[in-house]
Amino acid sequence: MATRAHNFFAGPAVLPVSVLEQTKNAVMDFADLGVSILEISHRDKKFEEVIRTAENDALEITGLSAQEYTVLFVGGGASTQFAMVPMNFLHKKADYINTGEWSSKAIKEAKLFGEVVEAASSKDKNFNYLPKNISFSPDADYVHITTNNTIFGTQWKTLPAVNAPLVADMSSDMFGIQREWNKYSLIYAGAQKNLGPSGVTMVVLKKAWLEKAKEKNPTMMKYKTHADAGSLYNTPPSFAVFVVGKTLQWIKGQGGLAAVQEKNEKKAKLLYDAIDGHGDFYKGSVADKADRSLMNVTWNLSTPELEEKFIGEAKKLKMLGLKGHRSVGGIRASIYNACPMESVELLVKFMEDFYKANK
Ligand SMILES: *Cc1c(COP(=O)(O)O)cnc(C)c1O
Repeated sequence: MATRAHNFFAGPAVLPVSVLEQTKNAVMDFADLGVSILEISHRDKKFEEVIRTAENDALEITGLSAQEYTVLFVGGGASTQFAMVPMNFLHKKADYINTGEWSSKAIKEAKLFGEVVEAASSKDKNFNYLPKNISFSPDADYVHITTNNTIFGTQWKTLPAVNAPLVADMSSDMFGIQREWNKYSLIYAGAQKNLGPSGVTMVVLKKAWLEKAKEKNPTMMKYKTHADAGSLYNTPPSFAVFVVGKTLQWIKGQGGLAAVQEKNEKKAKLLYDAIDGHGDFYKGSVADKADRSLMNVTWNLSTPELEEKFIGEAKKLKMLGLKGHRSVGGIRASIYNACPMESVELLVKFMEDFYKANK
């Protein structure tokens, strides 16, 4: 086997080695049953245990109670949630904060189901900041926010105060930072950034709010279907749920969110310090430093050619996935929970060497 690369891909992305090891073993034999995790019925008791444990662990990590919240595992990616949220909860009007490409896509879908108010947007500056002093509609069914903007490298550390039910796309920072979890009515996160492999989306839903969902929707598009069936209405993405379950246990083993966040802050600081240390050469792409993401660190060099050289030389040192999103270019280092400190340290060292050779 090749030695492990330094993985800075934005998603699917790096997973803890211990999770990969456990997954490898379960692919050959799951729970001493003589079948692979890929081969077992989702109705088998041992698999049901996997899904219930994952739900409980997600609640434990957040500190939310099972009386008030339910955790779902559904297919279709976060992009399906863009439609499912308004399909279920947009009765008349919803407020959306537009902070990037993913928010924009969520808005596009919501418009199919009702009135959408863009309560705030940072589109005027190509999403390089987070809007402040937002005024919300007094009568919105909910407010939708994207907590971490994977492409543009901004992240809400604290959220604006809202009066309506709060819905969050946390795809790229779920369980990477502590949140006031009980402020949310619905959270969704495609697993492949910070929680596991692609194929499954985690939804954390306030039970009281579920009561307000619209009844007349296709069965698979109703949260109630999945909530009533414990995410086993149909075949869930069982393999992906298994890996997410192992990742949640890994998070608990790290010491929970406080410990994970502390490590993420250290990694991000190393990288932002390296950028700012040569601010004439490396240009951080987020306007206000307070808005910078702990998960996706984005910056530019003076020309696209120099950026390409940077990415190419990094690749030779086994640092992968540093190319910025195709819509913005530049450099992006995604340093999710499972990205080891050593990978960030190596990148920072390379940045120093590259600066000296090319300034
Ligand atoms: C990646 C991403 C999505 C899209 O997720 P899919 O699972 O590919 O549909 C949505 N929102 C955010 C914030 C993302 O980072």
